[in-house]
Amino acid sequence: MRIGIFGGTFDPVHNGHLEIAEKVEHWFSLDRVHFVPAVRSPHKAQPPEAAAWDRFAMLVLATRPYGRFYVSTVELERGGVSYTIDTIREFRRQMGTGDDLYFIMGADAFRTLTGWKEYEELLRLTNLIVVSRPGHVLNAEGLPEAFRPRVRILGPDHESTWEHGPYIYLCSGIHNETSATAIRAALRRGEMIAHLVPPDVATYIEKYRLYRDAVTI
Ligand code: ATP
Repeated sequence: MRIGIFGGTFDPVHNGHLEIAEKVEHWFSLDRVHFVPAVRSPHKAQPPEAAAWDRFAMLVLATRPYGRFYVSTVELERGGVSYTIDTIREFRRQMGTGDDLYFIMGADAFRTLTGWKEYEELLRLTNLIVVSRPGHVLNAEGLPEAFRPRVRILGPDHESTWEHGPYIYLCSGIHNETSATAIRAALRRGEMIAHLVPPDVATYIEKYRLYRDAVTI
């Protein structure tokens, strides 16, 4: 099987995340995409605003229409700061030997990769799919020389030779401006965000008054 892993805080999950997962699933013929909400990202100064179970619930609602999309509790069950290397090791432990992993991230996250815990080992254990994000440069310049031969730049048709990896795929076909930070800010200002998230997620945010004065009891 070809297994995609999409890590993030998903605070909240938005249409940009879904567009990425849909396109990557198609481009790479993935059998499954696992969305993996973090308890807390080591790369973000602030903890997530919504509780882990709210972010999990919103992901379940958002992925429900997609037969190949799953939500993983691996980081929530592990607790503490969520390091991707630990998650990749856990997936590899549970996978068959013939399965391939594809970790999905945006260009902004990729630029911080060399600061990630055991990133060299990470690149040994999984393929990486890096997608473009407006306002962020997509190239491999931040990577040490040793990893450059592993970079594959995919053209507009996203054709790739499926040699045995792991590789670092750079995909320029995403032009989605949506960000969770902007959604939270809009909600605080009392603005509508229904066009930025799936309908069930908008309803959930509204019902529980997330990112405003959350209903806690
Ligand atoms: P925040 O604004 O809170 O930082 P975010 O919108 O970046 O959130 P995350 O949950 O942090 O969402 O993102 C998970 C992954 O999805 C990251 O690798 C991020 O780069 C990527 N990503 C999120 N939104 C986009 C987008 N619009 N285009 C490309 N990549 C994106």
